[in-house]
Amino acid sequence: MEAKEFKEFAKAMTDYVADYLENIRDRPVVPSVQPGYLRPLVPEQAPEKAEPWTAVMADIERVVMSGVTHWHSPRFHAYFPTAQSYPAIVADMLSGAIACIGFTWIASPACTELEVVMLDWLGQMLGLPEEFLSRSGGEGGGVIQGTASEATLVALLGAKTRMLHRVKEQHPEWTDNDIIPKLVGYCNKQAHSSVERAGLLGGVQLRTLKPDNKRRLRGDILKEAIEKDIADGLIPFYVVATLGTTSSCTFDDLEELGDVCNEHGLWMHVDAAYAGSSFICPEYRYLMKGIEKAESFNFNPHKWMLVNFDCSAMWLKQPRWIIDAFNVDPLYLKHDHQGSAPDYRHWQIPLGRRFRALKLWFVLRLYGIENLQKHIRNHIALAHLFEKLCLSDDRFELFEEVTMGLVCFRLKGDNEINEALLRRINGRGKIHLVPSKIDDVYFLRLAICSRFTEEKDIHFSWEEVKASADEVLAKN
Ligand code: PLP
Repeated sequence: MEAKEFKEFAKAMTDYVADYLENIRDRPVVPSVQPGYLRPLVPEQAPEKAEPWTAVMADIERVVMSGVTHWHSPRFHAYFPTAQSYPAIVADMLSGAIACIGFTWIASPACTELEVVMLDWLGQMLGLPEEFLSRSGGEGGGVIQGTASEATLVALLGAKTRMLHRVKEQHPEWTDNDIIPKLVGYCNKQAHSSVERAGLLGGVQLRTLKPDNKRRLRGDILKEAIEKDIADGLIPFYVVATLGTTSSCTFDDLEELGDVCNEHGLWMHVDAAYAGSSFICPEYRYLMKGIEKAESFNFNPHKWMLVNFDCSAMWLKQPRWIIDAFNVDPLYLKHDHQGSAPDYRHWQIPLGRRFRALKLWFVLRLYGIENLQKHIRNHIALAHLFEKLCLSDDRFELFEEVTMGLVCFRLKGDNEINEALLRRINGRGKIHLVPSKIDDVYFLRLAICSRFTEEKDIHFSWEEVKASADEVLAKN
């Protein structure tokens, strides 16, 4: 394909994308296809001869859209949101054109330097302590990881390196094999499954601890677990605090956990994958009180801050522990400016990395902080509207206090009736929700996901929930 055709194709695609998004409300939120639907729709083999782009365009509705779940439909309320916006889409186009692999500074200086500055902009927007920011002139700084799961693993590996170093200072005769089996980390029982997975991948034990009755992990429970493990000859080294749990969006008590971590020399990593975006609004920062006690902090602009996947922002006070953990230095990756700017290959698991800072830059400039705050506040207000509608019907109850854009609710009654309710809601095909279960209580989660969601959509979703409840309760 040459430039002339590319321009025609890209223009046609831009029109298609804008029309798709502006009319997304009219599409069924979940497709009605069955597994294996796609193979019969495409040839058995790749074409021998090049096809015109118009042929590809002509197949998009038939082959692709017929099997798409429309995550940006205002009627999609499952999981947590994944972000999307026009500036980020355009930035990804430019990133695709530059198509550099920014593993070292010299591999593409703009790729590294824009990332350093964007993570400083973003860190300031959240009100992170200066120690996390590169502009402070200290050691701290930020990096874009692909996902929150990677950030949790990277932080765990940093914490592991730090503890190995400390223990060997005290016991020079101990080897890694003596120490590693003794290492133990901790998280809330409600932490995301990626935390447990980080423990498995990092080859260390991770304990899940019981939260309080508001499902927050508290300092006394952590302290008790640490002291018991120390008494048993283990070496506590790492804690993941969650701000905005996946099941019901509760917030661990950072202040208390941070004190315990500091007292015992543990690395506290903060996983704020979804809820972290809300901290751009000062009124929600009370939920991250104690953040200065953490060693690392992570949230996903790709969830709730209008930056397309993947863009998971992570800050570290002492990146040297990560850099040391991952440092392998073959000659072909060395360059003359080593040490004067980050070589991000040492801050992450893969070697290759895309120019992701572009989408942050475009989104931050083209929305401005003010409009991003409006987006967050709007989603939270819409969640409160759904909460109000729910509470206006005495057949329903809330499972959790609503703080962000997530409403956890259920029919008063047993789990079976709520399982039937969810089946009915999703079966009607107009809106889409997923459930969760905590302490054997099954509930429905309604997340505000789309940037197109308006009050009328919440009323629509509520009518769907109510009508489904009528059907389920009439059958009972
Ligand atoms: N942590 C929390 C609290 C989450 O809610 C999620 C996903 O929803 C994750 C981690 C995993 O995020 P990612 O897909 O970026 O790894």
